[in-house]
Amino acid sequence: MVLRLSTLFLRTLREDPVDAEVASHKLLVRAGYIRRAAPGIYTWLPLGLRVLAKVEAIVREEMNAIGAQEVHFPALLPREPYEATGRWTEYGEGLFRLKDRKDADYLLAPTHEEMFTLLVKDLYSSYKDLPVTLYQIQNKYRDEARPRAGLLRGREFIMKDSYSFDVDDAGLEASYQAHRAAYLRIFSRLGLEIVPVYATAGAMGGSKSEEFLHPTEVGEDTFVRSAGGYAANVEAVTTVVPAEIDYAGAPAFEVKDTPDTPTIDSLVACANAIAPRADREWTAADTLKNVVLAVTLPTGERQLVVVGVPGDRAVDLKRIEANIGAHLAAAGELGVEAATDEDIKKVPALVKGYIGPALGLDAATLGAESSSGIPFLVDPRVVAGTTWITGANEHGKHVFGLVAGRDFAWDGTIEAVEVRAGDEAPDGSGPLETARGIEMGHIFQLGRKYAEALDLKVLDQNGKLVTVTMGSYGVGVTRAVAALAESNHDDRGLVWPRNVAPADVHLMVTGKGEELFAEAERIAAGLEARGLEVIFDDRPKVSAGVKFGDAELIGVPTIAVVGRGLAEGLVEVKDRATGTAENVAVADVVETLVARARGWDLPRP
Ligand code: ATP
Ligand code: MG
Repeated sequence: MVLRLSTLFLRTLREDPVDAEVASHKLLVRAGYIRRAAPGIYTWLPLGLRVLAKVEAIVREEMNAIGAQEVHFPALLPREPYEATGRWTEYGEGLFRLKDRKDADYLLAPTHEEMFTLLVKDLYSSYKDLPVTLYQIQNKYRDEARPRAGLLRGREFIMKDSYSFDVDDAGLEASYQAHRAAYLRIFSRLGLEIVPVYATAGAMGGSKSEEFLHPTEVGEDTFVRSAGGYAANVEAVTTVVPAEIDYAGAPAFEVKDTPDTPTIDSLVACANAIAPRADREWTAADTLKNVVLAVTLPTGERQLVVVGVPGDRAVDLKRIEANIGAHLAAAGELGVEAATDEDIKKVPALVKGYIGPALGLDAATLGAESSSGIPFLVDPRVVAGTTWITGANEHGKHVFGLVAGRDFAWDGTIEAVEVRAGDEAPDGSGPLETARGIEMGHIFQLGRKYAEALDLKVLDQNGKLVTVTMGSYGVGVTRAVAALAESNHDDRGLVWPRNVAPADVHLMVTGKGEELFAEAERIAAGLEARGLEVIFDDRPKVSAGVKFGDAELIGVPTIAVVGRGLAEGLVEVKDRATGTAENVAVADVVETLVARARGWDLPRP
């Protein structure tokens, strides 16, 4: 295959597009791979389509290799299945909704759990039919709040989504592990560094879940990892719980006047002034900060929650959002934000700036609900026997020496505060460091949630109806193209890994002589005969500078130059990534280029 630049539908650009923030977006537009059609919506040009097809081919091969079978759903779907699972509303503003001429509701699918579940229900009815795994490579539509970074977060994007159907938990685990292994192979073949991280189940319900993150500064996800191999999404990190402390003999708590101390800093300063410690200064870590949060339930109702955390740690709303569902027995997307002054005023027991746990309970009554009637959750570091300075629920007063489990109780523990670099990994594998990444894939044990909502049951060995258990697995295909561009470029342009490059060789003629063009034609034909894909810059009246600039911008791994050297029988062969060049005898050029292209592991036509 030879793509001639004299006729290829391509215009490279010198200037970065004005709306582009990240390198991959700038370069994919400038090098003529994609064009913007609308915010977060892109047109694929010939070079872009070639890269996209290669990414898709790798994904498809690895899915087929684990026995998954390809199907293809419409992107335009009726409302009813999404109504049945609650997602027509739960998806909120992220969903593109539309109407047909008869005024019936439709949507552009953001993901396809419902349709796959219904398809299997439609055709299968016995345990003998299972397990089965189906997948598609298809456009998805999400009206993202902030479409940014070009293909990294589009409003139309391509996802490979697959779904496994099993009769029992062991089957689901096997399907999940098969996907996990396939994903590791996919990303390794793409040449994309990946860190699989533990994730929380989030709005989808279900249990076990891992995300495949590509570490990059432009990523929107923060994750943590330890030198010993632990890696998790920040939302999923669990705190190492300290041992309980024996509080027999701990002095009784004391309420003290602490005028004008509504903040942790002012409280610590006051404590050191009015009740100095002999051994050391009081610090923020000695205080228990009680934060009032407002949770928006899927019903739209606003529920207040008080969360008690060590005063030296900031509250992390995303971690709370990911973990609070269990405490409120609420499914679906929960919004968590700081309660407003309005919210707090409605509850007289909450004294802003001086909020504390319900006090004065003796051990026998601990566990009774807090005085305000609002659920009181604490950070896992608040274990029995820990001693705190905290609000006394009276204006201008705090309580000192309040012992957890002796003087106050809580309704539950929640991961509520920031994870910091240096915190211990939960599996004991060392201190955590934080990094940024972008989610390239997600595997997820969905369990029976969708099967239950859509009534997908099969007859088991004993002729009894059992609900099928499902897994759901996604790879961002267009996002992978962008991530590859993001992590494989330099200041002159793209530098594609061989497996996804739009061609093997970028061949160009520099100079004017007929014999140069004739020789280059022979080389192009020779490469084509050996099955290589060639971009051939055969433009007659374009300067060498422009041709080099385009070759480096387009980013094919090997550049071959037929120019001045031909007089001595030499062709220059240059590596795009390293810039190293060698002069190769004309007679050997085809074989040299074939050898360089051998890293390629896609099947040859
Ligand atoms: P994110 O947290 O980045 O929004 P998500 O959790 O919404 O991702 P999933 O619903 O699990 O993503 O979708 C599966 C895969 O689809 C993701 O791992 C990602 O690679 C890709 N993807 C999701 N949203 C987009 C988007 N707006 N543009 C491009 N790819 C996307
Ligand atoms: Mg998303």
